[in-house]
Amino acid sequence: MAEHVDPYLSTEQIAVEVARMGGEIRDRFDGDQPLVLICVLKGSIVFFADLLRQLHVPTHVAFLGVASYEGTHSTGAVRLTHDLGMDIGGRDCIIVEDIVDTGLTMSYLLENLKSRRPRTLRVCTLLHKPEREQVKVPMDFVGFTIDDHFVVGYGLDYEQRYRDLDHIGVLRFTD
Ligand code: 5GP
Repeated sequence: MAEHVDPYLSTEQIAVEVARMGGEIRDRFDGDQPLVLICVLKGSIVFFADLLRQLHVPTHVAFLGVASYEGTHSTGAVRLTHDLGMDIGGRDCIIVEDIVDTGLTMSYLLENLKSRRPRTLRVCTLLHKPEREQVKVPMDFVGFTIDDHFVVGYGLDYEQRYRDLDHIGVLRFTD
């Protein structure tokens, strides 16, 4: 089966939203300690790096690895593949995710990270696919609300490919 990628969100559209989200996070920042920005590996890496540079507040970065997806279908099972490597107790934290789809990953992350007693724990996602929601998760900062498409690019992959695209496209399969 052949696959191709239809353009969906342009580099320019993404840049505008990321700058807006950076501004919103900055406006809400009131801590006396650096914000802990938690990158959910691997799909968020490009968004994370761009968002970080739009914040202009003191920030510590941390990385969390989770696996929940195989191909274009969620397995429903979420597991931690890499832990933060820092204590977030008493800290102001933001989880930075590429996409909230069924919500299962974010719900797992929130439960896991809350148990470590951060001062605040907020959620920032570039994309939200409400049609596929299985669990409701609080989202403090959202870039784009999208229809039920399987998207790639700007860090998002299909079987580890397409992460390097500078825009976001919809993956389509043809015979
Ligand atoms: P959820 O647990 O909310 O169903 O899915 C979250 C994870 O599934 C995301 O972090 C992402 O890795 C993956 N995912 C969900 N939808 C898409 C999509 O449209 N494209 C890609 N590339 N990954 C997706």
